[in-house]
Amino acid sequence: MQDLTYTPKSAWKRFAEEADQAEVAKFVESYRAFLSTCKTERETIAYVERRLREEGFGDDPKSGKYLVNLRGKALFAVRRGTMPLAEGISLLAAHADSPRLDFKQRPLIEQASVVQAKTHYYGGIRKYQWLSRPLAIHGVIVKDNGERVEICLGEKPEDPVFCVADLLPHLAQKQMDQSLREAFEGEKLNIVVGHKQPPAACAEKDSEKEEGILKKAVLKLLHEHLAIDEEDLITAELEVVPAGAARYVGFDKALIGAYGHDDRICVYTALEALLASEHLGRSKAVIFWDKEEIGSDGATGASSRFLGYCVESMTRAWEPQTSASQVLLHSQAISADVTAALDPDYQDLHEKQNAAQLGFGPCFSKFTGSRGKYGSSDADAEYFGFVRGLFKHANIPWQVAELGKVDSGGGGTVALFLAQWGMQVIDLGPALLAMHSPFELASCVDIYTTWQAYTAFLNR
Ligand code: MN
Ligand code: MN
Repeated sequence: MQDLTYTPKSAWKRFAEEADQAEVAKFVESYRAFLSTCKTERETIAYVERRLREEGFGDDPKSGKYLVNLRGKALFAVRRGTMPLAEGISLLAAHADSPRLDFKQRPLIEQASVVQAKTHYYGGIRKYQWLSRPLAIHGVIVKDNGERVEICLGEKPEDPVFCVADLLPHLAQKQMDQSLREAFEGEKLNIVVGHKQPPAACAEKDSEKEEGILKKAVLKLLHEHLAIDEEDLITAELEVVPAGAARYVGFDKALIGAYGHDDRICVYTALEALLASEHLGRSKAVIFWDKEEIGSDGATGASSRFLGYCVESMTRAWEPQTSASQVLLHSQAISADVTAALDPDYQDLHEKQNAAQLGFGPCFSKFTGSRGKYGSSDADAEYFGFVRGLFKHANIPWQVAELGKVDSGGGGTVALFLAQWGMQVIDLGPALLAMHSPFELASCVDIYTTWQAYTAFLNR
């Protein structure tokens, strides 16, 4: 009898041959190198722009390989196809920002013989995960004369790292009884940045009591190396991220553990899909936004009009008789973002039949949002069926999931901001373990098959 049931299958089974496994390994190794160096939205967008320019993308839409970089934090790139723009484009949209700790505008404090930098966390973090681990500082300081000083400290083996020192267990009795919310305060996410008593202080009798002498010593160092003062820190954007490279995880090296898979895994795979795409069929585009982790507001976030402006200039150059709104309305998009994989230790938080599994290929989310699908763009059956058919035709694995149980899970992506233009959109991306942590886990086969899926989508 014909088997009419649907059973998800591991994507690893499709890569049984040694040659296929080598191809997966090669792709994943390039991704690992990218992820190890691109730890902020600025670094990611700069990487993307560099790659695109190497492949002939540029500022002139007439060239048919057009890119727009918005202040180093968001980027749109499109390859012209042979079909009229009036029939819409194929678009992959991802975000380049990740949860982290940002320096406050007046960060430096000195207390108990330690200089610390105060932070305000960015995005959804579990605060305790950021304690007692090596951290790096990436960012940019802009002086009042417009001069920019870029910082990346804590990544090279010879660099110092930074950290938030956690409380010792001996003094944590009271904290052990508190809720996580009470136990870990945002105002205590202070980064250790210095401690040394300046030598001159030894000579002067009362100088050890001099207030802020350690902080002044740190400022002196910063001035020597970066030619900046405390006022310059006020206008800086300094992002504190986990130090160190992305690593293989497990005896079989089947996972990549790293900071920032969400959502640079989709930035990388979407970029590679665009680069590998052909000048046939629909025009194909990618857009990478900032600010997704804090609600997509801001000029470089998905709720801005940046996408509309880019489509407008592209349409004017290629097909002036068509309106940008017509292009947008007929476009088809994938909101390329990660989702939560079934957690082996917390399986009861998922509804297992509708949970994503590591290694089962990119995962569709028909809708996101929470509690009755609020705040979601629910993809229509016609579009979902069409994309599913594409993958079947190209023999690409996929799965489907909701993020957690009804009334307890949920989350948001940029899908609803794409949907605002009237285009068809569905979420599709790899599932992660320990999402939003400083060390997220992704399956190597999911990284590869996500790239395959995005490539098939652009080349349909
Ligand atoms: Mn995301
Ligand atoms: Mn996220």
